[in-house]
Order: sequence, then structure tokens, then C-alpha cells
Amino acid sequence: MKKESIPPSSSPSDEDYMRECLSLARCAAEQDEVPVGALIVCRGQVVARAYNTREQSKCATHHAEILAIEQACRQMGGWRLPDSTLYVTMEPCPMCAGAAINARINRVVWGTDDLRAGAFGSVVNLCDLPLNHKPALSGGVLAVECRAELADYFRRKRKPKTKGNE
Ligand SMILES: [Zn+2]
Repeated sequence: MKKESIPPSSSPSDEDYMRECLSLARCAAEQDEVPVGALIVCRGQVVARAYNTREQSKCATHHAEILAIEQACRQMGGWRLPDSTLYVTMEPCPMCAGAAINARINRVVWGTDDLRAGAFGSVVNLCDLPLNHKPALSGGVLAVECRAELADYFRRKRKPKTKGNE
């Protein structure tokens, strides 16, 4: 496979950033949230780090990607995030894929595909819509690790509850 440009050897790889997303996902799991972690890199700088907080915040939109995009917009001082890459442990859902497109994110990199709600190819591909911005897509980065993190979480959730909370 031919690469467009060879980054300096010191710059982190997609795998490096995905590993950081995995630790963010673990923070979510520790707080009893579905473990999805996301970060945004703009011109070599991490400008946002987030994880899913839907349960704690009791808010349907608080997916990791949305929180990361909001943070990055604040950080960059505008709604456009040019020259940026969104990394996330699971393929974005339609809401998050739409937000990434709206924020003009250049590239979206994810770990495991989401066969139930993935909106960058698994169920639907929002990039097939006639929109004037389409991020480059790369899925499957550390897919095994990202899938295992989710599987562990759901396995723990299925165990009989001992704390009496529902
Ligand atoms: Zn989402």
C-alpha cells in the first residue's frame, strides 16, 4: 500500500491514537458507561479527548464523538475542524457521523465496526449522500482490542446484579 506522505518517525501512528482512545473507553467502562472513547487530532496536536457519558449526563447525544467535537470546536474557536482526524473505538452512529461531516473533519478512523448502527458503511454510509464534505474513512484500527473492550463490558453487565440497582 502506498502512503501519500511519510510522517516523521516521532509522530504517533493511528494505532497510538487508538490506544489512547481505548484508555478513554476504559474510563467510560469504570463509570458504568458503554466503553467508547474518542479523540481529535489537529495538525499533530490532540485537541479533544472524550468518552461516552450518556448514563451520567442522562443525555442521548452525549456519545464520545459528539463530546470530542464540541471540545475541539471550543479549542479551535470555530465550528469547522479542518486538518483534523477523529479517532474513535467504534464506528460512529448516524448522529456522530453526521456531526463529523458537519464539522468538516478530514478523516475518521475507528476501531471496531458497529453492525447495528454504524453509519460509515456497516448499516448505512452517510458519505454516500450528496453532501459537499466527505471525510476520508479508515475502519478496523485495533479492531480486536476495541471489540474486546465492548464485549467485556456487556459480559459484566449480563452478570447477576449484587448491588440491587437496576
Ligand atoms: Zn454516536
